[in-house]
Amino acid sequence: ASGYSLLRDPHHNKGLAFAEKERDAHYLRGLLPPTVVSQDLQVKKMMHNIRQYQVPLQKYMAMMDLQEMNERLFYKLLIENVEELLPVVYTPTVGEACQKYGSIFRRPQGLFISLKEKGRILEVLKNWPERSIQVIVVTDGERILGLGDLGCQGMGIPVGKLSLYTALGGVRPSACLPVTIDVGTNNEKLLNDDFYIGLRQRRATGQEYAELLHEFMSAVKQIYGEKVLIQFEDFANHNAFDLLEKYGTTHLVFNDDIQGTASVVLAGLIAAQKLVGGTLADHKFLFLGAGEAGTGIAELIALEMSKQTGAPLEETRKNIWLVDSKGLIVSSRKESLQHFKKPWAHEHEPIKELVDAVKSIKPTVLIGTSGVGRTFTKEVVEAMAAINQKPIILSLSNPTSQSECTAEEAYAWSQGRAIFASGSPFPPVEYGGKVYVPGQANNAYIFPGLGLGLIMSGAIRVHDDMLLAASETLAAEVTQENYDKGLIYPPFANIRNISAHIAANVAAKAYELGLATRLPQPEDLVKYAESCMYSPAYRNYR
Ligand code: NAP
Ligand code: MN
Repeated sequence: ASGYSLLRDPHHNKGLAFAEKERDAHYLRGLLPPTVVSQDLQVKKMMHNIRQYQVPLQKYMAMMDLQEMNERLFYKLLIENVEELLPVVYTPTVGEACQKYGSIFRRPQGLFISLKEKGRILEVLKNWPERSIQVIVVTDGERILGLGDLGCQGMGIPVGKLSLYTALGGVRPSACLPVTIDVGTNNEKLLNDDFYIGLRQRRATGQEYAELLHEFMSAVKQIYGEKVLIQFEDFANHNAFDLLEKYGTTHLVFNDDIQGTASVVLAGLIAAQKLVGGTLADHKFLFLGAGEAGTGIAELIALEMSKQTGAPLEETRKNIWLVDSKGLIVSSRKESLQHFKKPWAHEHEPIKELVDAVKSIKPTVLIGTSGVGRTFTKEVVEAMAAINQKPIILSLSNPTSQSECTAEEAYAWSQGRAIFASGSPFPPVEYGGKVYVPGQANNAYIFPGLGLGLIMSGAIRVHDDMLLAASETLAAEVTQENYDKGLIYPPFANIRNISAHIAANVAAKAYELGLATRLPQPEDLVKYAESCMYSPAYRNYR
């Protein structure tokens, strides 16, 4: 290959870091200025450049350009500055990027499969340059973050999630495949936007939708085999639960909005027991929002309680209550409920308002997953603080503007007694002379390590016990120093190490359950996980 094309190949390009001998061997003489620099200096320079941008979207675009230009440098930057760059390549900035994807669109990323490709999906997959794929993140763009239907422009999400699989979980970039399935959009603004990149039609539903997804799922298994992890991402809940159930017995599938969220929130709740004393079974839970996140978390909490106490799942579920847009979910509503809400329809009189539900149910834990901001009002938080010495309050809705309450409000309205974490990051809060650091229940704590654990054990199915193992592992990473600040999650700086431990324990479960195909089982799973992890350091090309 020519030196010229080497410089334009993001997988191999090193820019000014090509050494003298490499410049001789690969026809690079004259194509680069004389100076030779280290990768560390390149990281320093790029971080300096990125920090010049004031607008988050500009930082995002600079990162995407880097990924297209020099993949190893992109990952080194991301790994070494994870706390600073996570909000750039992922939420909240990625949401804005998806909204404006059409106008900032330069080079296509990932694989677009639209209704036009029906009947030819296998061919489309063969157009992708890599064959040994280990993780696919796929979206149909219908419920992007808390932003709703962004159609084909949802592609930013699979791309961003997979860059975290690599940076945080150590999955090789070439083994990652982002996919957007375009069945149209119901977003009028996009349908009328000249710069929209997707199909200009309303969403296909029913059989037409199911057939396209089925063709995709079959083609994926045919071309990549049984051990490829397929992560469903940002599907609307009317499809998400069905897809997970339908393909859960034939494919290695995982839904991060349902299962990943559940695992990370459960980890925070397990950790919080250190602060409140006691066990999960001592608690009563109330959710605002009964969709993918709410019912997913509820089910995993019930499973963990059942595992801890030996009580049947039907019993432990009774400690968990959910409120949706129509009020408290109660048995008299059962007939008209979507199937994923039915297990939560307990005996109680109907209640419309959240604050009344708090007063009547008397929860110890309040969790917001409705996507609607400002719903944990002063009255609601005060009611929680009146019932509990240390109320646990999780405002999980994203982005920041949709958070149920701010960190400041949670601490102020509970006189500093709340144990608080949120979906979107909040800065530390000073209250009554003490500094509280709110934790972020970020899914990125779990899915990269979980994915690595599945891949390294050659798992063929995802099992709930693996999610529980991931939660327990993450909770155990919270140190006394973290607890002292009010944190129920560990800092992100250490995430590769955390991911290795999660991967090891998930893999151990896979072996225990007979779902692992990589035999024999490695002796030291943490060491093995670490040895599997991608390093962004440059290779020598001699
Ligand atoms: P979803 O499946 O659409 O569910 C939303 C739920 O909220 C539905 O049950 C809906 O009620 C209910 N709801 C809507 N408006 C309401 C209102 N005014 N009062 C009470 N309930 C209301 O969405 P999702 O996937 O669960 O996501 C929900 C939110 O959680 C999003 O903001 C998302 O960003 C956030 N989230 C955070 C994390 C995290 O922190 N790690 C992870 C995942 C999701 P109906 O069923 O009656 O329509
Ligand atoms: Mn998501």
